[in-house]
Amino acid sequence: MRSITTFNLQYAHRFYGFKGEAQYLHGHTGTLTIEVEDTINEGVNMVFPCNEIKKIAWDILRNFDHALILREDDPLLPAILDVYDKQGIKNGHPQNCMKGEAFHTKLATAYPDCRVVVTKESMTVEGMIKIVYDLLKDKMNISKLTFTSGDNAASERYWVCKNMDRCPLCGVALDEKGVCHKCGYKKE
Ligand SMILES: [Zn+2]
Ligand SMILES: [Zn+2]
Repeated sequence: MRSITTFNLQYAHRFYGFKGEAQYLHGHTGTLTIEVEDTINEGVNMVFPCNEIKKIAWDILRNFDHALILREDDPLLPAILDVYDKQGIKNGHPQNCMKGEAFHTKLATAYPDCRVVVTKESMTVEGMIKIVYDLLKDKMNISKLTFTSGDNAASERYWVCKNMDRCPLCGVALDEKGVCHKCGYKKE
């Protein structure tokens, strides 16, 4: 069975070199749906608590919220960083506090201090699904991702072959020692 969670990301981007309106800088509210598949954890009668899926994902993905997402070769990138630098907000600001942990993968790099994500490929809905799967695949058993943004939508399914050890009291994943970080339960 699957546990499903959905949340929104507000971001600006453009498709550099694309022959159409999307080559101009514009913004979206994107909606990401994460489906986690496993057996039902009989202790709590759920696959995985949805609020925990959201928390784990949001810790990383809030890098995309109120962020500017540009491809690595886009000339807007140095131009914008130059403006942020002159304005004194490139390396952070006291009011920029809703930051995620910086990350670097082969598909994307997050710079939370200036709320910029630099991508290898254009950040289409398909591109976003590739980036998100890469960031979250080792943290949860993702069986499907869906991302919608404006009139665009894409989804991808994944094979889930592993069972995750979960706490029978609160449902979250146990660490490698069989301990629940949330309630302290220990697997015998
Ligand atoms: Zn767009
Ligand atoms: Zn627990």
